[in-house]
Amino acid sequence: SRELSDFDPDVADLIRKELERQQTGLEMIASENYAPISVMQAQGSVLTNKYAEGYPGRRYYGGCEYVDQIEQLAIDRVKDIFGAQFANVQPHSGATANASVMHALINPGDTILGLSLAAGGHLTHGMRINFSGKLYNVVAYGVSETDYLIDMDEVARIARESRPKLIIAGWSAYPRHIDFARFRQIADEVGALLMVDMAHFAGLVAAGLHPSPVPHADVVTSTTHKTLGGPRGGIILTNDAAIAKKINSAVFPGQQGGPLEHVIAAKAAAFKMAQQPEFVERQQRCLDGATILAERLSRADVKDRGITVLTGGTDVHLVLVDLRDAAIDGKQAEDRLAAIDITVNRNAVPFDPRPPMVTSGLRIGTPALAARDFTIDDFEKVADLIARALIAEDDSDLSDVADQVRALAQSRPLYPGL
Ligand code: PLP
Repeated sequence: SRELSDFDPDVADLIRKELERQQTGLEMIASENYAPISVMQAQGSVLTNKYAEGYPGRRYYGGCEYVDQIEQLAIDRVKDIFGAQFANVQPHSGATANASVMHALINPGDTILGLSLAAGGHLTHGMRINFSGKLYNVVAYGVSETDYLIDMDEVARIARESRPKLIIAGWSAYPRHIDFARFRQIADEVGALLMVDMAHFAGLVAAGLHPSPVPHADVVTSTTHKTLGGPRGGIILTNDAAIAKKINSAVFPGQQGGPLEHVIAAKAAAFKMAQQPEFVERQQRCLDGATILAERLSRADVKDRGITVLTGGTDVHLVLVDLRDAAIDGKQAEDRLAAIDITVNRNAVPFDPRPPMVTSGLRIGTPALAARDFTIDDFEKVADLIARALIAEDDSDLSDVADQVRALAQSRPLYPGL
């Protein structure tokens, strides 16, 4: 019954420092967000004590009368948000959601076709040492060397040649919409199932600001902590009753044991947040912020340094900065922004000549700052500060840029009561 700060000051102190880091800096990692207090309260609740193997109304443990209602609320809300007929809200993470779908729908040794990691795909879409690369026969599509877009004719050609059982559409680092209808058509032509992993752009879909994959895919997976802005976790959606049944048994007992009902409660709270009108406005600001960033990083003085924006812009919440022709590499650029309290991640660009620990790219996203109430004016300032830092000479003094970043962070206080 002792408080954490009393019982374990070491951990409490590190949590406090992490809070301060989040409060004083600007979070621009495209896969991150600031979960609201309501979500964190649900996640930090007594629900962490409860075992609830099974599904609402069909549990293997007693005492599930309240967690049943909580999980049902999460299911009903997420179905409503995305217009899906079935939802599983138990996956502990996006990776587990993807593993469960493959476990449900295909067999080890079957062929899967996904976007290559080098072109922006996720580890679970067939990376060599991921479960997906070890259990399945992986074939990958990439992006075009001329415009860095997924070439759907090329996807069709590879699909015809390799006859995959499962086609995966979705990405971790790709700045444009993907053509779900064409993926559906290709899947039908070769007799494959289609899974769309909307982990990154789910919040935009929920707000109606990005095409929805739900009408096209056999299964849609997502995380709940990226643009959606909820707790860390995964979900699986489908409109097919037979697939839903297989997925439920693939999640439990196939891949997981007891569901994290405290996280499911937090997902329910996040789904309620996504049902509010303010959520649409926030996702619109997130998109506007990314567009501003792409525009300001396409200025002549930035281009002069060999720094460009991959595909020339963005349709989503992130921008990929291409540093292949720049003196600065991905690692140096990440470190330089870290030094002014802007957190981003270096990211390989397609056809990257530099090694994965260095890279020639940056992935910069706006979801967290949109959640922090950043306005268009704020995003313009941030974009200019990032541009200034990236084009600076090695020995430039960036202390005034750092001061401006700090002032911006202070002007949009994060978790003021904590
Ligand atoms: N799918 C995509 C497209 C992702 O970008 C990610 C996370 O980066 C995941 C799945 C995995 O999510 P998690 O980190 O929750 O396992």
